[in-house]
Amino acid sequence: ETPRYRVALIGDGIGPSLTPPMHEREGGALGLDYTYERVDLAGEDDADLAAVLADLEARGFAAANVTHPYKQRVLAHVDETSAEVSRIGSANLILFGGGRVAHNTDCTGFRAGLEEFLGSRPRGRVLQVGAGGAGLATAYSLVSMGFEEVVIHDLDQFAAEALVERFSGAATGVRLRSSDGDLGHWLAEADGVVHVTPVGMAEHPGAAFAPEALAAGAWVAEVVYRPLETELLRRAKAAGHPVLDGGRMAVGQAADSIALITGLTPDRERMLAHFHEL
Ligand code: NAD
Repeated sequence: ETPRYRVALIGDGIGPSLTPPMHEREGGALGLDYTYERVDLAGEDDADLAAVLADLEARGFAAANVTHPYKQRVLAHVDETSAEVSRIGSANLILFGGGRVAHNTDCTGFRAGLEEFLGSRPRGRVLQVGAGGAGLATAYSLVSMGFEEVVIHDLDQFAAEALVERFSGAATGVRLRSSDGDLGHWLAEADGVVHVTPVGMAEHPGAAFAPEALAAGAWVAEVVYRPLETELLRRAKAAGHPVLDGGRMAVGQAADSIALITGLTPDRERMLAHFHEL
């Protein structure tokens, strides 16, 4: 008999999310009876997460992905947290069955994509621009990837400093510091930059920094994936910089979620090709 998986996505305004079709297509390709349902709580003041999770469990769901604005709030309703979740303070996947276990595949999915992109490139200094919710997940990846120095910049300097403070204990063998607001200096000094702000999306046009200010050969990794080619990536490419688009992280979080839910190994290249069709 074909193994059956029911998975949900809990969030606000998730109609356009590409995660449901990614899961269903890959689940089918893995030979599973795999369906993925949206639980959109937009417009519900004071959404009752406890009731939503209990209902999914009662209906036999295997897991739920969790997105904005519930990634932190959901932690009040789980029994166990992965090492990443404990450090980052947010989760995007809850496994049911027995106790509820919280994972953060934004972190692991971003790391897998960046590892592959970097290959043997030098891992000296990396600059991260953006220290919000997604920035916590990417920064936690960066401190475990063998860079010598990770520099965090945000328009909100307090956010950058709070991130550095949060991870200082986890960052062994790497210097982790804030930019002290001096973006221009660190852009010129970085081997690569990770962009983790909403700038470049349709609602936030433009680029958070000028890629022309980078050192020759410095790479740029983007997390925005709608559009896949942001203004930042277009200008960085034109200036000859190697770039990684935000699709890799979007696919990576879905692939790592499927792996945790099913115990199977999804085909990332097949998922990426499908993502590009969506
Ligand atoms: P957020 O609102 O929590 O944080 C954004 C941070 O960026 C804030 O700290 C803000 O001060 C800072 N910021 C805004 N404009 C800036 C600028 N010009 N220069 C420097 N800092 C600036 O948002 P978030 O949850 O961290 O998400 C950021 C983006 O990440 C989203 O818009 C989304 O596109 C993307 N994202 C992608 C994936 C993926 O799978 N590819 C996953 C999660 C999020």
